[in-house]
Amino acid sequence: MNDYPPQPISYVGRFAPSPTGPLHFGSLVAALASYFDARSNKGTWLVRMEDLDPPREPPGTDALILEQLHILGLEWDGEVLYQSSRLDAYRATLERLKATGLCFSCDCTRPRIKSIGGIYDGRCRYRKLPFNSGLATRVKTDKNLYEFEDAIQGNYSQILEQDIGDFTLLRKDGLFAYQLAVVVDDADQGINHVVRGYDLLESTPRQIYLQQLLGFLTPQYAHVPVVVNEQGQKLSKQHFADSIDVQAASTVLHNAMRFLGLRPAKAQISEPPADLLAWGIDNWDIQAVPKLANIPMHAAH
Ligand code: GLU
Repeated sequence: MNDYPPQPISYVGRFAPSPTGPLHFGSLVAALASYFDARSNKGTWLVRMEDLDPPREPPGTDALILEQLHILGLEWDGEVLYQSSRLDAYRATLERLKATGLCFSCDCTRPRIKSIGGIYDGRCRYRKLPFNSGLATRVKTDKNLYEFEDAIQGNYSQILEQDIGDFTLLRKDGLFAYQLAVVVDDADQGINHVVRGYDLLESTPRQIYLQQLLGFLTPQYAHVPVVVNEQGQKLSKQHFADSIDVQAASTVLHNAMRFLGLRPAKAQISEPPADLLAWGIDNWDIQAVPKLANIPMHAAH
């Protein structure tokens, strides 16, 4: 095939909810940011269901989230990818990482790691424990600086060994870790733009590290502020965040858009969701998204 002149690479983004509960205002803000950024760049917008942790996922939550997106008018492209259908890909990638000699088996407990300040100290690095079930698999980190330019937050870097420590790829309960799955799926789905919540900013250097070990491209990242409650806690099912009221779709969208730095007129609240979204795509400016870690819920109103 002749690939001259080179074709511009088109934008591929995604929203990747974990089906631990229905969408709440905070997850809607993340969904909307990735949707606006993809659509305003004439890009593809994929939805990936991050259902890797069955005990935390009430049955039917995936369908509920997709229905909420649909009612809000957030139409995705193609089929939804379920991480639960991707275990062979994660297993194969874990084997590739093991072949680098950088992986080791670990029997440390969470309380022990917590007691030393939360940063893994490499205790099992050279113990050569067998890769048995019941033990976690970690990847060794190093002293290099992992650095990237976030489209909203600017330059961000970590020295993984000192800031995070060797991290888990396979949990001791046999479940694949988020860091491994997200890197494999972003690469296999050709994702080149990741727009997500600020709480994942500190995961990004780990993901870049794995991408480099595996020879994958690094997407452009953008981290939007996380919506917090009065106590400063991230809205989540654990904190009993209300599921969004899709009956009031336009009100919810209007609020979420204001949170992302868009300024729809008051009167637009009575427009149908599709019109509000079209306005949002036309007026989207990633530079207008507040450069903050979090914003209290009440500030969005
Ligand atoms: N599934 C993750 C969450 O719901 C998001 C992962 C990502 O966007 O990389 O927090």
